[in-house]
Amino acid sequence: MTSPARVHIVGAGVAGLAAAVTLIAEGHRVALYEASQHAGGRCRSFPDPELGCRIDNGNHLLLAGNTAALAYIDRIGALDTFERPSEAAIPFVDLGAGERWELRPNLGPVPWWLLDRARRVPGTRPGDYLEALKLRRAGADATVAAVLEPQSLLFRRLWQPLAVAALNTGIEEGSARLFWRVLAETLGRGGAACRALVPHDGLSESLIDPALALLRRRGAEIRFAARLRGIGFADGRAAELRFEGETVALGTSDSVILAVPATGAARLVPELVVPEDHAPIVNAHFRCDAPVEAPLFAGLIGGTAEWVFRKREVVSVTVSAADRLVDEPAESLRERLWRDVAAAYRMAADPVPPARVVKERRATFRATPAQLKRRPSAATRWNNLHLAGDYVDNGLPATIEGAIRSGFVAAGRVGRNRNPAAVVASLAARQAETPETAEDRQRAVP
Ligand SMILES: Cc1cc2nc3c(=O)[nH]c(=O)nc-3n(C[C@H](O)[C@H](O)[C@H](O)COP(=O)(O)OP(=O)(O)OC[C@H]3O[C@@H](n4cnc5c(N)ncnc54)[C@H](O)[C@@H]3O)c2cc1C
Repeated sequence: MTSPARVHIVGAGVAGLAAAVTLIAEGHRVALYEASQHAGGRCRSFPDPELGCRIDNGNHLLLAGNTAALAYIDRIGALDTFERPSEAAIPFVDLGAGERWELRPNLGPVPWWLLDRARRVPGTRPGDYLEALKLRRAGADATVAAVLEPQSLLFRRLWQPLAVAALNTGIEEGSARLFWRVLAETLGRGGAACRALVPHDGLSESLIDPALALLRRRGAEIRFAARLRGIGFADGRAAELRFEGETVALGTSDSVILAVPATGAARLVPELVVPEDHAPIVNAHFRCDAPVEAPLFAGLIGGTAEWVFRKREVVSVTVSAADRLVDEPAESLRERLWRDVAAAYRMAADPVPPARVVKERRATFRATPAQLKRRPSAATRWNNLHLAGDYVDNGLPATIEGAIRSGFVAAGRVGRNRNPAAVVASLAARQAETPETAEDRQRAVP
């Protein structure tokens, strides 16, 4: 099969970048178009003039079980930009009860850690954890709260914080099946898969800038401020890309990977069905020095803040599925969230340090059973147009890992995986696909 002359990738978030670095490694000519002035989309860092330092748009937790993300980070040469603890230890603070503990799964897949009281959630017994297996058999319409016991201590102290963070969806609505997929790829594989990857500097420095540098070195054409306004179709193919002020005619061997968010994709691709309900995430970044002995991150129970991260120049807080907070003024959120941080990291409650509150109203699609049914596969009815992005069905919630997998799958559709590293990445992505996606792909591959 002859190689497509050029692959046009629209959208420079992690999905588009993952596709781009894979294809350029296979020898394709790549053109990357990004609507804004910077790459990274919902996963990036920027300078905050008021705080006087760089911050991430939101805190992102990556785990070693995120195999596609690791393959991508390796490919862009950024493994050494992460702190990678050798042990899996997830610290928690119950703000109401004043209790602190670390969840410390042993590295291997046989979960003997459950037998060790010091490694599990205080007040729980080993048998309590077996309840999670019910998620595996959950029906497509089942929610997390309907399958697990929401009144139990283990639910409140473990399943709920993990589910809300992973799905960015409340437990009453979040898909039980999707939560199972997350658990199966992390806790289910043992502590080795639960080790955190924490960027030394920021998201852009670890996940975005090295990819752009690699693409530039290999001759990719990268255009910023290039918003795709329309796609012209002819003879079952995408025939032209219409940007403001310029139309790019596609050669007969050219391909397009559309790696823009769901709503944008639905505007550009006729009759495309995508998730339409989105959930907010609220982050607050406090300019202060946390005590050096404070953990790099911790889950908070019983407060408003859900996860706290100690970074180089700021302490950052995340609240997922934050519908109840997005309309609250930044000033009162600042005070409310700082109270939790101060208690968790044993810092002074007064004065509240300078802070930036970032409200992402449409952070990710809501991982409800109904929205999951609206996820498309990478294939479209135009044989040279492929979809990538966290909303594309990749078997995971809207996450960096899911977005990167979808980028690999889209690249695999273009590149037919002639490069062994791409085969590995593509296999990782395929393992993650739901049976429905795999069927779609089978149908779509000519
Ligand atoms: C606050 C926050 C916290 C999060 N926390 C986590 C976490 O802890 N762990 C985790 O794994 N995930 C997390 N996520 C989710 C994760 O950031 C996303 O799933 C992932 O970044 C999506 O990548 P993407 O490439 O699919 O989309 P995007 O990042 O949205 O990238 C799409 C790109 O396309 C561009 N674009 C849009 N329209 C056009 C157009 N017409 N023409 C050209 N370009 C266009 C956009 O400007 C953007 O750069 C979080 C997200 C947010 C917002």
